[in-house]
Amino acid sequence: MTTSDQHDQHTPTDRFRRWARTMIAHRLGDPADRHRAGPAHEIYQSSTMGALLDGVYEGDVTIAELLTHGDFGLGTFNRLDGEMVVLDGICYHLWSDGSAAPAEPMDRTPFAVVTRFEPQGNIRVTKPMGRAEVIALIDKVIPSANLVHAVRITGTFGSVRTRTVMKQTPPYPSLVQATEGQAETTFTDTAGTLAGFRSPDYEQGISVAGYHLHFLDAHRGSGGHALDFRLDDGDIDISTASEFHLSLPRSGKFLNADLSTDRMAEQIRRTEGG
Ligand code: ZN
Repeated sequence: MTTSDQHDQHTPTDRFRRWARTMIAHRLGDPADRHRAGPAHEIYQSSTMGALLDGVYEGDVTIAELLTHGDFGLGTFNRLDGEMVVLDGICYHLWSDGSAAPAEPMDRTPFAVVTRFEPQGNIRVTKPMGRAEVIALIDKVIPSANLVHAVRITGTFGSVRTRTVMKQTPPYPSLVQATEGQAETTFTDTAGTLAGFRSPDYEQGISVAGYHLHFLDAHRGSGGHALDFRLDDGDIDISTASEFHLSLPRSGKFLNADLSTDRMAEQIRRTEGG
C-alpha cells in the first residue's frame, strides 16, 4: 500500500477504487508488485534428501535434462558415484579420489538441485573468515530466511575440507552407512568456487536445511562436498528463488522408501554436516 492509499481510502469513491484495484490485482497479478519483487527465480530439484538418506540412489533424470532447468547447483550421480557441481551451465562430476571432469549428458542423477543463477546481492570479503563467519555474513544480508538462496563463493581459500561419496552396489546401504568412514580431502591455499544453497528450516528432508555447499577448484579438476572451509578473500554472490519445482520419481525404490521425518535431521547432520 502506498502513502496515497492510506490517505484517500476514506471516501466511498476511493474505497471503491481500492476494491476494484485489489480485485484486478488478484485476478491478473499486480504489475507493480511483480516489479517490486523482481522476477521469480525457480529452484528445480529432482527427488528428495530424505529419499537419498534411505538409499534411493538411482534416478531417471539425465544431466542433459537437468541443465535445461538451471546453470548452477549441486547433487550426486546414480549409484552415489561422486558429487555434482553445476557451474556456468556445465555439470561437473567429482569422484572420490578428489578428481573432477565434465559429466556425460546421459549420466543420471538420483538427487540434484539447480537454478538459473542471477546474482541479486554481492558481498566482497577481504579478510580471512571461517565457515561460521561467512555463514553469519550471508544470513545478515539475505532478505528472508524463508526463501531459498543460491550461494556462490568465488575466491582463494586457506583450506577447504571435503568429502566425496563413493559408488555403491545394490542392495544399497543407507546414506549414513554409505558415508561412514568416508574419505576426506583437505585442499589448502587453493582458488575455486563453493556452489550451493541456503534452504529454509522447513525444507529439512526435502533438501538440506541451512547451507549445503560443494567445492570446485579454479582449474575445475577437483573438489567435493564441503564440510568446512576458510575463505581468505573473494566474492559471495546470492541468487534468491521463490519458486520451487520438485520433480519426484514415479517408479523404482522411491515409491516404497521410508521418508518419515523422525530421525531425518540427525541423519542429515551426520551425512552432510562438518
Ligand atoms: Zn553435498
